[in-house]
Amino acid sequence: MKHTDAADQSSFKFSERLNKLPVYLFAEIDRLKQEVKAKGVDIISFGIGDPDLPTPKPIVNILKEESEIDINQKYPSYEGLLKFRESAANWYSKRFNVSLDPQTEVLSLIGSKEGIGHLPLAFVNPGDIVLVPDPGYPVYNAGTIFAGGIPYVMPLKQENDFLPDFSIIPEDVLKKAKIMFLNYPNNPTSAKADKFFFNEVVKLAKKYSFIVAHDFAYSEVFTGDAEPESFLSVKGAKDVGIEFHSLSKTFNMTGFRIGFVCGNKQVLSGLGAVKTNLDSGVFQAIQLAGAYGLDNELEVIKENNKIYRKRRELLVEGLEHLGYNVYKSDATFYVWTKVPAAGVSSKDFAMSLLNDKGIVVTPGSGFGEYGEGYIRFSLTISEDRIKEALERMA
Ligand SMILES: *Cc1c(COP(=O)(O)O)cnc(C)c1O
Repeated sequence: MKHTDAADQSSFKFSERLNKLPVYLFAEIDRLKQEVKAKGVDIISFGIGDPDLPTPKPIVNILKEESEIDINQKYPSYEGLLKFRESAANWYSKRFNVSLDPQTEVLSLIGSKEGIGHLPLAFVNPGDIVLVPDPGYPVYNAGTIFAGGIPYVMPLKQENDFLPDFSIIPEDVLKKAKIMFLNYPNNPTSAKADKFFFNEVVKLAKKYSFIVAHDFAYSEVFTGDAEPESFLSVKGAKDVGIEFHSLSKTFNMTGFRIGFVCGNKQVLSGLGAVKTNLDSGVFQAIQLAGAYGLDNELEVIKENNKIYRKRRELLVEGLEHLGYNVYKSDATFYVWTKVPAAGVSSKDFAMSLLNDKGIVVTPGSGFGEYGEGYIRFSLTISEDRIKEALERMA
């Protein structure tokens, strides 16, 4: 959908900042999907970045109980319930050995997307640069543009294991940079980062005084033995950065809208000030349900990861059998692979897969120009459906 379509019927013109946004590709894929579906095709969708597995029952029960309680029906506090922030801090300490002050170093979010999108409003002036990974989650770009900032693309290339190469960023760009967005385990490439890389990031951020905003949405989604590294766990990280965490992928709670951001106090107070002026916090019953998950439901994560592991093995083996060149990773619930036909764009390939086989995949170009040449499969469907898709593709 073009952003200008809705304005065509009237004389109300969208703002320049809205018109500057790239077309939201996922809406386009969705429309195409509806068209094919309308023809009666049984669609198999690998396009969904939303877990198909259920929210753990005890978490849902807490939400039900807590929503009946009078005080939870009132406006929540801006910074989030202390109980939720304490649970987040305790979990961080247990899981990553990072100590956080729940009062000043944790902030509740209406999902991490909300915090990511709002962060530039607190620290970016018109004309300032924000370093964004490409391919990447589109919100880094959108939040930057809404704040009047200029996104500067850091290409993520397979030859570098989809880590940015800082040596190619010009000095004057680094000097003007206010924020660097990073995301590991990475959506869409599934790549991971190690402590060595994060140490380099801290050094660079200190040298050029920019904020590091690490999106850690997939911290708990991994199918191998090595646990993803927290940016905040490297020395000096809290001096320069923050980490966004989401309960969406961790506990299959995408619909609840709950996440948190933690780390550098000053950065959190800036983001908090923006939020205080725009939203009124997260429904307390949801925060208590999330806190319960962080305190008690960690076994579920292991069970989910076993399921993703089997799906990953099945899909990767099947794709390789079909001649795909798959990027090997054991994190996130995505499989990132080169388009198997030479000279065909990722979008054309995705469209033909949808038209000819009724299979939805996400074209890499939807995540930025350096995603071109790749497609993304989400492991958010059952093994039976994965098998069926592989049969159709054969
Ligand atoms: C899913 C996702 C998020 C956002 O999750 P919320 O539901 O808003 O907490 C953030 N970053 C990446 C890379 C994601 O894939």
